[in-house]
Amino acid sequence: MSNQQNKQHAGQQLRAVSYARISLDRREGAGVERQQADTRKLADLHDLDVVAELVENNVSAWSGKKRPEYARLLDMIRAGQVDRVLVWHTDRLHRNVGELVDYLDLTRSHGVKTLAKQGNGYDPEAADGKFLATVLGAVAEQESDHKSERVRRAIRQSRERGEVQRTRYRTFGYEHDGETIVETEAQFLRDAARRVLDGDTLRRICREGQTAGVTTTTGGTMTTTALRRLLLNPRIAGLSSVAVAGHDRPREVIGVGQWEPIYSPETHEQLVAALTNPNRATNREGTAPRHLLTGIATCVCGGTVCASTAPANRQGVRHPIYRCRTKRDNFTPGPHVSRRIADLDGYVKAYVLDMLARMDLSDYLTSTTDDGGKLDRLLTERARLETVLDDLEARYLTLRTDRERAQWDRLNRATLDALDETTRAIDDAAGDTSAVAQLVGVTDIAEWWEGAELDDRRGVVAELVTVRLLPVPRGGRGFDPEYVDIRPRRAD
Ligand SMILES: [Zn+2]
Repeated sequence: MSNQQNKQHAGQQLRAVSYARISLDRREGAGVERQQADTRKLADLHDLDVVAELVENNVSAWSGKKRPEYARLLDMIRAGQVDRVLVWHTDRLHRNVGELVDYLDLTRSHGVKTLAKQGNGYDPEAADGKFLATVLGAVAEQESDHKSERVRRAIRQSRERGEVQRTRYRTFGYEHDGETIVETEAQFLRDAARRVLDGDTLRRICREGQTAGVTTTTGGTMTTTALRRLLLNPRIAGLSSVAVAGHDRPREVIGVGQWEPIYSPETHEQLVAALTNPNRATNREGTAPRHLLTGIATCVCGGTVCASTAPANRQGVRHPIYRCRTKRDNFTPGPHVSRRIADLDGYVKAYVLDMLARMDLSDYLTSTTDDGGKLDRLLTERARLETVLDDLEARYLTLRTDRERAQWDRLNRATLDALDETTRAIDDAAGDTSAVAQLVGVTDIAEWWEGAELDDRRGVVAELVTVRLLPVPRGGRGFDPEYVDIRPRRAD
C-alpha cells in the first residue's frame, strides 16, 4: 500500500507537484508568484524534480465549490505520479476539516509527504494524534471566523433542549458518552458535596481522595481548584448550562439535561452558595495555620511570626496581631515586631495579586523548573490543543452525514488523547514543585484568591515573596507599608 509507487531508488529524483492558490485573506496573503518562488526553493532544497506547478487562479473557486487544480492534484496522487506535494502553507490546501481528513487519508495511503515553506508539512509516517491535532488547528482557525456565531446559537439551542453533551473532555463522574455514570467517581462527588455542605475543606477532601487513588479524568492530581470547579458544574446535577463570558464565572443554567444526575439540583444550589461565599466557615484541622502569614513573614531578628492578640487599646479592643515568636522568650536580644493581622494580610494580598497580574506564568514556571524550555513548550501545546477542542465542540453540531460524524469522532479522540498526554507531562514537569502552577489557566486571579483554600494562598505567597517586618518608630500611627519589607524572591 505505501511506498511502492515512490521512486526512491538509486539515482532517481523524487517527483514533486507544487500547489498555489490566491489568498482571500488580506492578513497574510502571499501572492501566487511569491508562493511559487518559495515552493521552488523547497524543491531545490530537497533535490526534487518538479513535474507540475498547479495554480488555482479563479477567486470564486475558493469561496465557491469547484477547485479544478486541487482535483487534479488529488488525481495525480491517486495515479501514483507524485512523491511530494509542495505548498507555501498547508492552509492553501483545505477549506474544511472534511477535505483535510480526505487529503491525509489519500497521501498516507500513497506514501506522499507534503512540504510547506511556512509552518509544518504533513508526514504520513508521523500521523499520530498529536499530528492530526496540529494540522486541524490551522484549518479550524480558517473556518472559525465566519462560523462561530451560527455555531454559538446552535450550541445554545442544543443546551436548551438538554441534549447530552458528548464533546470536549470527559466530565468527571460520566463516561465519554456524557450519560453513563462512573459509579466510583459519582460516589466521590456525592461524598464531597455532603462534606462541603457540612463545612469540610476542599483541601482535606482532595487529600483523602488522592490517598484513595482518585484522579482527574486526564489522570492528573485532583486539586482543590479542579474539585471546586466540578462541584460548581450544573451538569453533575443533571442541569444543562452554557459558559458565561469570563473564564471562572459560574455557568448559566438554561435547561434540564436528558442525562441522569449524580446529585440533586437542590444540592447543586447549596454548593454554589457555599463555594462562592468568600467567608465560608470550615472546620479546619487544629494544628494547621489559620492565617496567611504565620511562619512565612519574618521579624528583623530572623525568626518567623505567629498569631497572637494585642493588649487592649484605649477603647478596650484587642486586635489580632502577628508577632515575633521569640519575643516573649526574650531569647534573642533586640527589637521584635508585631503588626495587625488584617492590615498586613491586606497589604501582602494586594502586593501578590498585583505581582501575579503582571507575571507571565509560563515564563515563570519554565524558569522555575529549569528544564530547558520543555514546560514552556508543553504549556503552549496545551493552549493550542484546547483551542482545537473548542472548535471541535462547536463543529459537532454542524455535522450532517455519518461520514462527517465518524471523521469528527476520530479527530476528537485523537485530540483528547494528545491533551491527556500533554496534561500528564505538565503535571510531571511542574505540578508538585510549584504552588503557583495551580494558577495556570486561571483568568481571574483575584477571584481565584477569594475562592482558594488558605493553604493554597499561603503556598503562593511563600513561593513568590519574602515578607520582613521592620520596627515602627515610636509614635507611629496606623499601618504604614514603609515598615514592611516585601520583595519578590526572584528578581526579573
Ligand atoms: Zn524577632
